[in-house]
Amino acid sequence: MLKLIRNVNVYAPENLGIKDVLIASDKICKIADEIKLESNVEIEIIDGTDKLLFPGFIDSHVHILGGGGEGGFKTRTPEIMLTDITTGGVTTVVGTLGTDGTTRNMASLLAKANGLEEEGITTYIYTGSYQIPVKTLTKSIMDDLILIDKIVGVGELAVSDHRSSQPTFNELAKIAAETRVGAMLSGKVGIVNVHMGDSKRMLDLIEEIIEKTEIPKKHFVPTHMNRNPYLFEKSLEYASKGGYVDYTTSTVPLFIEEGEVPAYHTLKLLLDKGIDTSVVTFTSDGQGSLPGFDENGNMSRIDVGKVTSLYDSVKDAIVKDEIDISLAIAVITSNPARIYGLKTKGNIEQGKDADLVLVDKTSYEIDTVIAKGQIMIKDKEIKIKGTFER
Ligand code: ZN
Repeated sequence: MLKLIRNVNVYAPENLGIKDVLIASDKICKIADEIKLESNVEIEIIDGTDKLLFPGFIDSHVHILGGGGEGGFKTRTPEIMLTDITTGGVTTVVGTLGTDGTTRNMASLLAKANGLEEEGITTYIYTGSYQIPVKTLTKSIMDDLILIDKIVGVGELAVSDHRSSQPTFNELAKIAAETRVGAMLSGKVGIVNVHMGDSKRMLDLIEEIIEKTEIPKKHFVPTHMNRNPYLFEKSLEYASKGGYVDYTTSTVPLFIEEGEVPAYHTLKLLLDKGIDTSVVTFTSDGQGSLPGFDENGNMSRIDVGKVTSLYDSVKDAIVKDEIDISLAIAVITSNPARIYGLKTKGNIEQGKDADLVLVDKTSYEIDTVIAKGQIMIKDKEIKIKGTFER
């Protein structure tokens, strides 16, 4: 089946100007000023007038199976549904377990990722949870990476947090080493997605590994780097040396009052310091819990993260901070695709997957979402629902 998006302003994420974009099955097969087809060819035309075309968004930290549980069993957050993802323009997710690696496990995470893939989007997963030893699918990090296509790394592994297993230098270095070699042998990049807590130790362990071992920094993606002012300051220093930094978009007003740096505003703060934002990704932490703790370490409140916060934050960066559109959308398109080695994702280019988002050119609101050539949302209306969505 062919689809032609006509007369649309393409951000690939670099701005290509007004183009026609032809989709054949699940791939982008041509981008040109004007594409003419024989009149007898069956084709679906999508009018892109007054719209911007972005690559489908990549959210590389989503609790697709649910997360949480920090306040007992009733606080385990529910599984994500397809449209929780697609209504946010997201067409690729990397699923992660989280605090609880006991009542949730890798077999269920893989099954959920397979289910979402059957429903139309692209999914990957991390092996493990907050804890060490890492609870893998095959009993080995290296085997998981080599044998399971969907596994792109380890995570989210918690450090500098009261919920972490308190890994030592040797333990974390071994995990990174296994990730590196497993990824090399399977043609992947191999990412250790590190959950950062509020401890003042911050990136100490990661920096020590980069300094004392041969493991390159490209394997580490520390996340939640905007969760407090000192960790955000640290992220500026780490990013200026070429380290990857991930900022979390799901939040609640109380967290911002307590000093969390709103994800949307991080780009302006980085650019003001002259830091190259190609090392930055945004992720939603979607469907994870957003627990608050009192001074005694007891959970005092809990909310659920939303995947839709991902693009909302990028939109805020464009609208409120006047960040360049290409630069802003790169943190949820081309940057994660490059950092995670997702070769067919993240750019509007001939031969790449037809994952595309059309937005209104003035409000930047999502209008149409296409995942692997299939229209998931059209004219702001959901066209494809998840199996159990009504
Ligand atoms: Zn986390």
